[in-house]
Amino acid sequence: MRIKKGDQVVVTAGDDASSTPHKVLQVVEGGKRLVVEGVNRAYRHVKRGHPKSPQGGRLSIEMPIAISNVQFYCEKCNGPTRIGYRYDDEGRKERFCRKCQASAGIISPPRPKYAKKA
Ligand SMILES: [Zn+2]
Repeated sequence: MRIKKGDQVVVTAGDDASSTPHKVLQVVEGGKRLVVEGVNRAYRHVKRGHPKSPQGGRLSIEMPIAISNVQFYCEKCNGPTRIGYRYDDEGRKERFCRKCQASAGIISPPRPKYAKKA
């Protein structure tokens, strides 16, 4: 699937399933899993001196979830959608929402080979 760091996603399965969008903090295991803000939290016990908890104790951190349990969130559709790829007039690769066709950002430099011919 086609999710990048910084994307908004909707969690569709598991304990944290809901229809509200969350931000992807990290893509791990070569795109198979994601760390999503506020989702799949667990407590990690740390010793004193940890930079985020000088006293030691328990830190709440997000654990990775499988990418198959999320869907891309489109701000225009205001809901989960599928994402596709297309090339723009200058041959730049672009992701887009398959529901409303809105662009979800350009992800490559212009490549003349893929430019649309007039
Ligand atoms: Zn959309």
